[in-house]
Amino acid sequence: MEKLQTPYFVIDEAVLQNYYRMLTDSLRQNWNNFLVGYSFKTNSLPWLVSFVKKNGAYAEVVSEDEYLLARRLGYQNQEIIYNGPYKSESSFREVLLAGGCVNLDSRMEIAWLTRLATEHPAQTFSVGIRANFDLEKMCPGETTMGEESGRFGFCYETGKFAAALQTLRAIPNVRVAGLHLHSSSKSRSVGIFRSIARTACRLQQEFDLSLSYVDLGGGYCGGMEGRPEYPDYFPAVAEELSKCFTPDRTKLIVEPGISLISKCTAFVTSVFDTRDIKGTRYVMTDGSRFNIDATMIKTSHLFHVLHEKGDGSERASMPRQIISGYTCMECDRMFSYDNSPELFPGDRIVYENVGGYTMSLNPLFIQYFPAVYIKRNDSLIQVRRKWTPEDYIQGTTLTEDA
Ligand SMILES: *Cc1c(COP(=O)(O)O)cnc(C)c1O
Repeated sequence: MEKLQTPYFVIDEAVLQNYYRMLTDSLRQNWNNFLVGYSFKTNSLPWLVSFVKKNGAYAEVVSEDEYLLARRLGYQNQEIIYNGPYKSESSFREVLLAGGCVNLDSRMEIAWLTRLATEHPAQTFSVGIRANFDLEKMCPGETTMGEESGRFGFCYETGKFAAALQTLRAIPNVRVAGLHLHSSSKSRSVGIFRSIARTACRLQQEFDLSLSYVDLGGGYCGGMEGRPEYPDYFPAVAEELSKCFTPDRTKLIVEPGISLISKCTAFVTSVFDTRDIKGTRYVMTDGSRFNIDATMIKTSHLFHVLHEKGDGSERASMPRQIISGYTCMECDRMFSYDNSPELFPGDRIVYENVGGYTMSLNPLFIQYFPAVYIKRNDSLIQVRRKWTPEDYIQGTTLTEDA
């Protein structure tokens, strides 16, 4: 393959297609009435959005900007799944008026819906409710929120969910058609999704819900050694859901993000300098921790090294080399490369499994957005050029003179 100017992301289209197919095959086999809502926040690279759209995914959006991006990229209002605490009233109304899917997150949104329903008495509005429930109790040590509660939706344990349901049921032309149960976990285990499905059943029974859909949200694993893959989740989910629901009446919605795009995405960087300071070898690269770990939470990286010449066996081994980024921040260090061949300018370090929460969280800090390529067969096709200062200054005013 040709040697391109680094740094850049590369998405292997065949691997992506394989993951998409693995997801839909497993859903079809286990619950043959399903919908995929692709999580925009995980990575809304326009090419990726177009890819999942072509494959039948709806757009799962959590802000007005994401909603407008989805519309700009060709999604109809009926193909939107609108979630999260920060919707705008105008987009909320547009999606509901067109029959799209909105999962209510707050009392404010119930007030918006009440107003909308009053203004359009002849139309029936179907909505979903995001349930906030104690997943940690069912899966100790596995959730992101831990002992503290999650921040989203209406809390089941405190009666807020019941109260919201009561308010909605009192509006004559509103129908509670769906449950949204997204919960983030550290473990991303099959047990988490079994517990989420169980919660859907418990809520259905306790409140006598007649649901057109159950939305499990996202948070699956994909492409990680020794961890679950799509075919592991949906038999367990279907086993639980079938106790209270049937595929002919209730659709299963999933909102994958990182699990679809991790495995297919790599970030290619080059060494441009090395330096020794007080006995420490620093290897300076043109990629940054901000490109692949903007939230600074990763403790290890999957990577491989491509030496500019040879395979490294002819090189001296070094006990420790600190692989660092190009920024002027001291914390911009990716990992310690121990007992390994000495690295030189021109060598490449390729990070794997970097599709989710990287491009979408990449700041415009010191260097602008890197290029993105698609690997198709043996060629690389550019789908985003590197951003330049021209991109950066668009929409700004250079002088306030009239
Ligand atoms: C973040 C999020 C997702 C996607 O999560 P992944 O971990 O990327 O799969 C799906 N749905 C909602 C509501 C989210 O907030």
